[in-house]
Amino acid sequence: MQNFDVVVVGAGAAGLFCAGIAGQRGLKVLVLDHSEKVAEKIRISGGGRANFTNRDIDVRQPHKHFVGENPNFCRSALSRYTPADFIALVQKHGIPFHEKHKGQLFCDRSAGDLIEMLLAECAAGGVQRWQPCGVKTLRATAEGGYELDTDQDVVQARQVVIATGGLSIPAIGATDFGYRVAKQFGLRTVEPRPGLVPLTFDGAGWAPYAGLAGLALPVVIETGNTTSPHAPPLRGLQPPEGASSALGRPGGRKKERIAFHEDLLFTHRGLSGPAVLQISSHWQPGTPIRINLAPEVDLPAALADAKQRSRKLLANELAQWVPSRLAEAWAAQDKEWQRPVAECSDKALARLAERLAHWELLPTGTEGYKKAEVTLGGVDTRELSQQTMESKQPGLYFIGEVVDVTGWLGGYNFQWAWASAHACATSL
Ligand SMILES: Cc1cc2nc3c(=O)[nH]c(=O)nc-3n(C[C@H](O)[C@H](O)[C@H](O)COP(=O)(O)OP(=O)(O)OC[C@H]3O[C@@H](n4cnc5c(N)ncnc54)[C@H](O)[C@@H]3O)c2cc1C
Repeated sequence: MQNFDVVVVGAGAAGLFCAGIAGQRGLKVLVLDHSEKVAEKIRISGGGRANFTNRDIDVRQPHKHFVGENPNFCRSALSRYTPADFIALVQKHGIPFHEKHKGQLFCDRSAGDLIEMLLAECAAGGVQRWQPCGVKTLRATAEGGYELDTDQDVVQARQVVIATGGLSIPAIGATDFGYRVAKQFGLRTVEPRPGLVPLTFDGAGWAPYAGLAGLALPVVIETGNTTSPHAPPLRGLQPPEGASSALGRPGGRKKERIAFHEDLLFTHRGLSGPAVLQISSHWQPGTPIRINLAPEVDLPAALADAKQRSRKLLANELAQWVPSRLAEAWAAQDKEWQRPVAECSDKALARLAERLAHWELLPTGTEGYKKAEVTLGGVDTRELSQQTMESKQPGLYFIGEVVDVTGWLGGYNFQWAWASAHACATSL
């Protein structure tokens, strides 16, 4: 039997960061993980370069970039440990990084730099790390602490931090451990589901687009239950110049419409790319999504103008504003659209412009946890202190993705991992 002040379960982003800070505060810390490799999700993140934070987080309005039953829950942690704090740490470790766009920061070399940094912080705090080492049982002791039967030894600790993440990418070690622990202690959870995930479309309706795999283009995508182009405008439709392209209001509120101006990617089974990943976290199964395939052009006016001056086929004209393969796939759907633009009726052109600007689709599903970057839902924030991440079960903490706080694409999820870990570690 070994004794620790704190046992952290999960050596991922949140767990390692929390362990390092707690250790440096003088606590005797053990971090354990059932995986052989440490922080695999960091390693594969951001295309191998880890989009480790975002400069554009508005800590006073976290609902702008975070989804969950109560997105404001994360305000306290995010405002006490900001992107600037994490950037300072990255700089202290001499890790080169760059900004891509929309405030997203990436490592120049590889995400491995970040893992080395977290391990160095743990070493500076004298943190012990056991890997691979699973937890068979966790129980509260009569003395007010916890006892864990692990694959290596029985350990006792005054406090336990659950940092086991969500269900995404089971192949690299994701499990439902955190949710099971919550249930064991009578803490509520919000039903988990895949987020930041490609959407799939089955059946004959998808056939015209099945050959477009690999094609990418900028679009405006929105979710919400309206099918009318005359629906009320999206709230906050005009994003500030150069700021995040989010056009709508927060997730977690099912009736609210939300839109993103991002790139769309056609895949073999459906749609992906940043636009679809973002909308997937707000999409409710059984509801449609709508896409403006040519958001940067006034299509009715452009087509009317083309009709006056061009002899080209409609598909060739259209290819000025959308990729030519897409233009051809659309024109092929209607005989009226397979003519020279000058011979198309005004009605046919108007119909095409309308359909391209309001392409409505009913996704049949998602690519699931195998492809999802995050897991929506998790430990219900009503069970946790927003200052410390301690649950209503004294001495038991939950941090990172296991909590019902999910960030948008763009470094927000890592910032939540750092901030929640910091809030927890400084209160242990
Ligand atoms: C492909 C991909 C790319 C991503 N890119 C980005 C990005 O660029 N920017 C961004 O902000 N976010 C990104 N994310 C999301 C981000 O990686 C996660 O939100 C973040 O890692 C969550 O941190 P965490 O510590 O809570 O969980 P994790 O990092 O998932 O760590 C959880 C740890 O717990 C361990 N564990 C699980 N179950 C058990 C158990 N039963 N016993 C012991 N240990 C267990 C796991 O092995 C793992 O090491 C990406 C995710 C994916 C899948």
